Amino acid sequence: MLTSRQLFLKHQAQTSDFPLMLEIEKAEGVYMYGANGEKYLDLISGIGVSNVGHRHPHVLKGIQQQLDKYMHLMVYGEFVQAPQVKLAEAISKTLPENLSISYFVNSGSEAVEGAMKLAKKYTGRTELISCYNAYHGSTQGSWSLTGSEDFKRAYRPLLPDVNHIWYNNFEELERITERTAAVFIETVQGEAGLRVAENNWLKAVRERCNQTGTLLVLDEIQCGFGRTGTFWAFEQFDVVPDILLCAKGMGGGMPIGAFISSEEIMGVFRNNPILGHMTTFGGHPVSCAASLATLEVIQQENLLAGVPKKAELFKTRLKHPAIKEIRNCGLMMAAEMESFEILKPVIDQAILDGVLTDWFLFCDNSMRIAPPLTISEAEIENACDIILKAMDKVLK
Ligand code: PMP
Repeated sequence: MLTSRQLFLKHQAQTSDFPLMLEIEKAEGVYMYGANGEKYLDLISGIGVSNVGHRHPHVLKGIQQQLDKYMHLMVYGEFVQAPQVKLAEAISKTLPENLSISYFVNSGSEAVEGAMKLAKKYTGRTELISCYNAYHGSTQGSWSLTGSEDFKRAYRPLLPDVNHIWYNNFEELERITERTAAVFIETVQGEAGLRVAENNWLKAVRERCNQTGTLLVLDEIQCGFGRTGTFWAFEQFDVVPDILLCAKGMGGGMPIGAFISSEEIMGVFRNNPILGHMTTFGGHPVSCAASLATLEVIQQENLLAGVPKKAELFKTRLKHPAIKEIRNCGLMMAAEMESFEILKPVIDQAILDGVLTDWFLFCDNSMRIAPPLTISEAEIENACDIILKAMDKVLK
């Protein structure tokens, strides 16, 4: 009989050169539990998903209450479904007035797709601009926004008329013109290895978009929903986007995403002259209930207030000659080492010793640290001790 690991390799499409291949039986709070009694402190929250921890009781309760009523009823936007209505209202309360309308989808990539179509239809323009080292998703459209030619080559032709600028580079802003429908920017870049936007650069992008009638889309799929210590990362900057994207942490572990905009912009998706955008499962009632509960947990448990101190604790504890730099925005952190060859054995050893971390898609010399916001200070100290010991063990 084949083991689960053998079956995984035999029957599941492989997407990683180095799959971690942990077999988890249960996850709760900041911990994951393996089939043979292993216990892992989850320092990556399933890549930015479990911001309120795994199986948060309030989220489970929201899910259960909705399961007792109904699961799926109708394609998005036809019926008035309480979980969607409540979530849309709650989200709008966290945002400036111009971001009052949510379109719920199933994932981050779909939020990006929706925003690309919306921007094109609203402006009547064709060009889209994103950053060279950005990651916006894996569907054909969102993949087109990726700046890495290595990633794109095998899949061409992708979307035409997509151009790129460098993050935090002021000189290229003139490339945003009256032809540009939208500029897509991660308020804090995740897969590039944790790069935080400069306030003045974001302001200059906003200014240039205003001059040219271009929409500014902020992708907060990874950095939104409390990850950076404010509910939305852009609250820490002097800009407001025309379209905001979120997913990942939004569902507390359930699949959901959203693109959010104004009444005026979102209005073009009505039948003029044809329907704009459809989704069967987008805004799934159970996911919406989970998302509303997640939002409530962040607010009621005052999770944002604890983020700066917890981030600081990581930074003061994680001191080691092999760590060159720690970059962060709240609890979205990267610890940079010399190379992947040095980092990878540290990650492997830390996992053996009970701490789960990872690297970034476009930055494989940096350790990803993005624990649930519910992590305690004692757990942070313990995690840092294990990582430091792992470094000493493998970097002799
Ligand atoms: N945008 C950003 C900034 C992301 O980090 C991701 C996922 N890593 C996506 C978009 C795509 O989201 P999903 O995997 O849910 O499609």
